[in-house]
Amino acid sequence: MAKRIQLRCPICKKAVKNTDPDFPFCSERCRTIDLGKWASGQYVISSPLKDTEDEFGPESEADRSDEE
Ligand SMILES: [Zn+2]
Repeated sequence: MAKRIQLRCPICKKAVKNTDPDFPFCSERCRTIDLGKWASGQYVISSPLKDTEDEFGPESEADRSDEE
């Protein structure tokens, strides 16, 4: 049943093995490139925006402070 899956570097699409020290990247270089993408905001994480608090009004905001 063992199926050989060809793993590829997400940056340059070069074949990598999961035993590689830089897995899932093919090299230190691609790992750094990926980190750079995160740092430069190419990957956008949907972060909760504070302004949604307005929907609940000041009263529920007071309740939340009691929760902890
Ligand atoms: Zn690569």
